[in-house]
Amino acid sequence: MPLRLHIEVAGCVQGVGFRPTVYRHATALGLTGFVSNGTGGVVIEVEGSSAAVTEFRHRLETQPPPQARIEAVRVREVAPQQSPTFEITASERSGDLAAGMPPDLALCDDCRHELFTPGDRRHRYPFINCTNCGPRFTIIGALPYDRERTSMAPFVMCPDCAAEYADPRDRRFDAQPDACPVCGPRLTLRLPDGAVVTEDPLAETVRRLRAGEIGAVKGLGGFHLCCLATDDATVQCLRQRKHRPDKSLAVMFRDLDELRRHCRVEAAAEALLLSPARPIVALPRLPNSALSAFISPDTDDVGAFLPYTPLHALLLDAISPLVMTSANLSEEPIVSDFAELGTLLGAVADFALDHDRKILRRCDDSVVKVARGTPLLLRRSRGFVPRAIALPHGGPSVLACGAEVKNTFCITRGAQAFMSQHIGDLTDLSAYSFFRQSAADLEQLLQVRTALVAHDLHPDYLSTRFALAHPAPRKLGVQHHHAHIAGCMAENGLDGPVIGVALDGTGYGTDGTLWGGEFLIATRGSFERAACFRPYPLPGGEEAVRHPARTALSCLVTEFGAGGLARAADLLPSLPEAERMLLVQMIQKRLNSPLTSSAGRLFDAVGALLGFDAPVTYEGQAAIRLQTLALRSPQLPPAYEFRIEPGPPARLSFAPALEQVMEALRRGQDRAEIAAAFHVTVAVATAAMCTRLRNEHGLSEVVLSGGVFQNDLLLTLLLERLEAARFCVFTHRDVPPNDGCIALGQAVVALETLAG
Ligand code: ZN
Ligand code: ZN
Ligand code: FE
Repeated sequence: MPLRLHIEVAGCVQGVGFRPTVYRHATALGLTGFVSNGTGGVVIEVEGSSAAVTEFRHRLETQPPPQARIEAVRVREVAPQQSPTFEITASERSGDLAAGMPPDLALCDDCRHELFTPGDRRHRYPFINCTNCGPRFTIIGALPYDRERTSMAPFVMCPDCAAEYADPRDRRFDAQPDACPVCGPRLTLRLPDGAVVTEDPLAETVRRLRAGEIGAVKGLGGFHLCCLATDDATVQCLRQRKHRPDKSLAVMFRDLDELRRHCRVEAAAEALLLSPARPIVALPRLPNSALSAFISPDTDDVGAFLPYTPLHALLLDAISPLVMTSANLSEEPIVSDFAELGTLLGAVADFALDHDRKILRRCDDSVVKVARGTPLLLRRSRGFVPRAIALPHGGPSVLACGAEVKNTFCITRGAQAFMSQHIGDLTDLSAYSFFRQSAADLEQLLQVRTALVAHDLHPDYLSTRFALAHPAPRKLGVQHHHAHIAGCMAENGLDGPVIGVALDGTGYGTDGTLWGGEFLIATRGSFERAACFRPYPLPGGEEAVRHPARTALSCLVTEFGAGGLARAADLLPSLPEAERMLLVQMIQKRLNSPLTSSAGRLFDAVGALLGFDAPVTYEGQAAIRLQTLALRSPQLPPAYEFRIEPGPPARLSFAPALEQVMEALRRGQDRAEIAAAFHVTVAVATAAMCTRLRNEHGLSEVVLSGGVFQNDLLLTLLLERLEAARFCVFTHRDVPPNDGCIALGQAVVALETLAG
């Protein structure tokens, strides 16, 4: 008596070669039945001997296609039908398939092998792909995922490609972007004067890059600006033209072997570098690396990544390593179309390597660090988006608008959260229009009706204004740091209450001041501010982020009065006397000087005292330089002193530490040691506050979030101390600790509120 099973597989199982894999397993075992794409997943029926069916289930679990992500499998027995064969039946092309929309996938090993095999019909073809690799999110116009709704639609498959596409045994079966040199997209090299090179544009690109030119190269989610990473003059020229004086530039290497000659690569980093998402990974630079010192002047790390498209593979095979940085001007969104390059061609790039496959969704590279062997996301975008993040429970659909800088937004459907790609800094108008377009796009893709729009409490964020103008029936303001903590709780499946530690830049507090060094007793739906860093007036408000010396001055004057002011004169040379006096007036009279408990601003202030007091050229620069300095300290000094002042909220005061910092400077102590001691101090003090809260509230789970935890030195020091004190500590898994996580947290709080 044969056995027939009906199997439903949910998860990211479409567009990743799932059905051909099922076909191969089933036919190898002599089973009959069918496989097809269904609503939100894949439906399989297999029939045969009970042993063969059992083996099939085992193979499905242990040998799924490499890019699939199985979230749930439902199996039931059905009546045998004695089907003659096993078939891949036509997709059920209805309903919502968005759950199956895959992210863009890096070039796979099989395709890479063909790419470099002379005689292969795709030898050196820059758009080679298969069911396991290639563009997805960035070329899909609408769902369901079929070629006619992708930007491959204008390319009519040649007979060879069509045959592969139709053959279930072929590794390009049903691969929507499949193409070859006969029928697929092509490269063109364009010059500022309008001239076009179609004869071997790749060779011309390599020739020009070797000569020190800067190119704009069209990739998966947008154009990169690209130049030799080993040549100081070229890298400096790129910085000058792009108006990006100091912020790190990412570098692409030919392969892992070459990368190892420049950076230290540990196992966790290697796994990330080779993963199908191929993010940029921050790696410690080796002293003998030949990379230009201008790649990352503020850190000893290099943002490194490996080729993820066949075009990159061909380019880097000829010339490597290359700077690969998003083509845009300062905070504008990444350029995704040749026409958008506009004046950048000529003004910034000497030439553009273009192609005729349209990018339908712009998407920046993702960025990851490794802290204590664990990935620490800094930007979740290409390769991760639009993978769903599982929520503790479902509810009506929520649109969460996120924060202002490093903006991402989020839409929930059922118990899944779909985070947008990196949108950027919404103070830039073109970023704001990118935000609005993308929100409409994702709502449409997911086919949801938004029941509630969640937003930050900050009245001036454009994301808040967008939310308030949205037609959805309900709106919910979510406190910034509660969003930080609630998101991290949801990722870790925590109900709370927990001790939530949000060490952050600034976020709008419920009392109208700027919070950012917060200890919350939080559940996913509510919170109480149990403690915070001692607040200081921030002269000029959030603008002070651009000039850390202002924050430092405020700390000195607030804590030490006239004595502090006297020290400021020599410690903060970037503040001329007249400006200093004006600022002191503002601080003392509280003119345009909101109080802030921000941990990020405290790091800025200490960075300023240690010599990084000049206006910054990007957010967090002084803190990054402070961390770099601390990492150069030969040993970890003991902590400075701090004070806990009773509340509520209790206050963590670093005044004694600031005094010791100034004393150390007076003695001429090594600045690296002072920087390291300050890091240790913040870790020890934060752990001490957690211990106090544990005693008061009987809680031992600590949840960490906030932009300051991008500082992996601080994160590591704090984790060590909390674990030594026997806390259970939770950090983000799927989203960054910075404001890129805010939308997720807002959605989580909103779903709790709706569940009421
Ligand atoms: Zn492939
Ligand atoms: Zn073809
Ligand atoms: Fe934040």
